[in-house]
Amino acid sequence: MCKDYLIETMEMNCPICNENHIVEKRKRITKGLVKKEVVTYEELYYVCPLTDVEENEFVPAKLFDENLLRARDSYRKHKGLLTSEEIKEIRNRYELSQSDFSLLLGWGEVTVTRYESKKIQDETYDNIMRIAANNPIFTLENLDKHKDKFSLDKYIKIRNNILKIMDQLGNSYFKQLEIKHLYTRYQEESVYNGYKHLDLKKLADVIGYFANFIPNLYKVKLMKLLWYVDVLYFKRYGKSMTGLVYKHMPYGALPLGYNEIIYLPTICVNEEVLNRNNENIIYKIKPKETINISNFTLDELNVLETVASKFKDYNTNQIVKYMHSEKAYTDISEFSIIPYDKAQDLKDFK
Ligand SMILES: [Zn+2]
Repeated sequence: MCKDYLIETMEMNCPICNENHIVEKRKRITKGLVKKEVVTYEELYYVCPLTDVEENEFVPAKLFDENLLRARDSYRKHKGLLTSEEIKEIRNRYELSQSDFSLLLGWGEVTVTRYESKKIQDETYDNIMRIAANNPIFTLENLDKHKDKFSLDKYIKIRNNILKIMDQLGNSYFKQLEIKHLYTRYQEESVYNGYKHLDLKKLADVIGYFANFIPNLYKVKLMKLLWYVDVLYFKRYGKSMTGLVYKHMPYGALPLGYNEIIYLPTICVNEEVLNRNNENIIYKIKPKETINISNFTLDELNVLETVASKFKDYNTNQIVKYMHSEKAYTDISEFSIIPYDKAQDLKDFK
């Protein structure tokens, strides 16, 4: 709990000694109160190395605000709300300023500014921003509904940005709608989705992670890696990582929507014909972008690394064969959903 880390040292005017000298910038995990709830977050502070312990810490106003934001973002994560950084990402995607994003959604001009700096959004506002993030058609409809809030120049510029996003998403966008449709039956957290509602953003990151770190990745192997990641994470933390629902299929566990999830935006797929006589097409998965490791928690990264290093050199047949002797697989009848509580029987990872 008290463990702290040195981030950097720098020379500045130390307010304790009132002199210029080298001070240390440090961080530690701490607890704070947000909306009457205790949250855990990373706190930043400075240490004067020339002063006795207990009186050697100081936090300038700017850092204090940053710490507050970290505490609030921790609360948001805990409540499943967008963090200030995620809100910023959404409007950056459409190249919108804080006030333009607010006006587009029909809100007061400073609403988004407040959400990015201090205020915690309620669930209704959160949902609207999420829909705007994933659905450019919704964003476009809102722009048209609130057209009178913008100059004609600005309206055209924003409209073009939204259309650009639509083009970029293309296939991927419609595939995501298909996946959501497939998962409407699994909205509730249950033993079938590992007590987690499907998180497409996390799934895209996980797939991107494997595409970046596993050479010669093919579709069937990817599906197995996903199952191991979800099940191992479930075994450790009682929740799946992505919220995917898996079925017992002849080639092992396959998630619902396995044909669609390979079109998520973090990867690209090349179709290769295995041999000309049989018409087998195999799908080679390649990364589309370098993956941002900081999108994962340390626990998530640890599970990803464990699974990736275990199966790195397995070819498709080997991993299929390995999975076929999992109790979670053999205990479940063909074409049935594999419940996550079977994770307890997972063969050991060594
Ligand atoms: Zn000092």
